[in-house]
Amino acid sequence: MKLTVVGCSGSFPSADSACSSYLVEADGFRLLLDMGNGALGELQRHCGLYDLDAIFLSHLHADHCIDMCGYFVARYYRHDGGRCAPIPVYGPEGTEQRLTTAYADTPSASSMSEVFDFHTVKPGWHEIGPFTVRTEKVCHPVEAYGIRVEHDGRSLTYSGDTGACAVLDELAADSDLFLCEAAFTHGKENIPDLHLNGREAGASAARAGARRLVLTHIPPWTDPEVNLADARAVYAGPAELAAPGRVYEI
Ligand SMILES: [Zn+2]
Ligand SMILES: [Zn+2]
Repeated sequence: MKLTVVGCSGSFPSADSACSSYLVEADGFRLLLDMGNGALGELQRHCGLYDLDAIFLSHLHADHCIDMCGYFVARYYRHDGGRCAPIPVYGPEGTEQRLTTAYADTPSASSMSEVFDFHTVKPGWHEIGPFTVRTEKVCHPVEAYGIRVEHDGRSLTYSGDTGACAVLDELAADSDLFLCEAAFTHGKENIPDLHLNGREAGASAARAGARRLVLTHIPPWTDPEVNLADARAVYAGPAELAAPGRVYEI
């Protein structure tokens, strides 16, 4: 499996990074996890506009899904005429309506579904292309999912947005790479069921026995080095910060 960080800024884009978006590839299949603000532009550095095979939206906060509106334009009004065939889009209940509302004037209420084949995510196991995928509901103010992607005996877990919760540890158990949000700073922000801080991300990785930790979703106003040091204080394995364009072979 190959993971490419398309964007990793939390809550809003930074000067250096788009919001959450991660490209996972195996056997020629491209699965995109989230498409936050600015991600559609960055994505084109890593693959063609029409090269995606499936999209998974962890939740419907704008920093995880809003560039789907631009992607609708690219697929619906193709410059070479024609219209793209629908690709699978996995998301929480109400994804199609949320994106249609955000777009504001789709030709009809069902236009999105002409280019996106929406699947409602529930906790459980799914087959997406060559990947075996497990989704679990995590702790966030809106319906939000963590996702574990497995292929050929290797595993990647992406936390999505979440506060500390036991199900996240379980989802990430023995993962080869744990891509975990750390939006808050330990000792500074403490709002339950919203985001993790660096220390909580590290503790979750330690409990899960994850082999590698990559911290992501750190907002521009937060010092990432502080969150990384907090994670390393409680997690003994290799830990680093996500960065746009970084590639991991898993
Ligand atoms: Zn977010
Ligand atoms: Zn969120």
